[in-house]
Amino acid sequence: MQLNERQEKIVEIVKEHGPITGEKVAEKLNLTRASLRPDLAFLTQIGLLEARPRVGYYYKGEQNPFGLYEQMNELKVADYQSAPVTVDESTSVYNGIVTMFVEDVGTLFVVNDQQELEGISSRKDMLKIAIGKADINQLPIGVIMTRMPNIVVAYEEESLWDVANRMIQHQIDGMPVVRKTENGRLKVVGRVTKTNVTKAFVALRNQE
Ligand code: ADP
Repeated sequence: MQLNERQEKIVEIVKEHGPITGEKVAEKLNLTRASLRPDLAFLTQIGLLEARPRVGYYYKGEQNPFGLYEQMNELKVADYQSAPVTVDESTSVYNGIVTMFVEDVGTLFVVNDQQELEGISSRKDMLKIAIGKADINQLPIGVIMTRMPNIVVAYEEESLWDVANRMIQHQIDGMPVVRKTENGRLKVVGRVTKTNVTKAFVALRNQE
């Protein structure tokens, strides 16, 4: 997560002129105090600014004892990803379901023999088929999976916050962590899910 342009400007102003009232910050930005309120509240909540009654805002970022904001920004996918659980396209839906239970995951990645991403099948994709009339012993997972190029992926060097944001936007529980190959395909090297994000969130407190 990053500050937006206006929040960056506010921080600069407070750094230079603090302590400074919200009114004065607004004046410098040619905005009203009311329109700045959400940004000031946010910057205060994350500990970059502190508000003192009758004095105004002052910059507190560098004095923040835990540097929580910085720590959160530093969380990388590579440090929290899990091992991927993969099957190939011809795996039956039945065996897909068994794999999901045995490996204790909610999403299977479908790959070719080079571990390159072809598709993804979630627990509900399989459940939907299982409650219908299809013969799940015969039906290959390739028929029901969500297929490339419609797969949302993550990269190891990415920030965990950006990845979490994508999960929310696309309403998915997780995504494969991939590396681009020379031929432009995506090799699956990991798995990042809401559980990994939750673990990172909890670890932030334990580090304190
Ligand atoms: P579930 O449907 O079991 O709750 P998800 O919310 O993760 O699991 O998946 C919702 C739908 O999105 C499913 O049809 C699944 O195939 C698809 N899906 C899951 N993960 C991804 C992804 N990373 N990229 C694209 N589609 C995905």
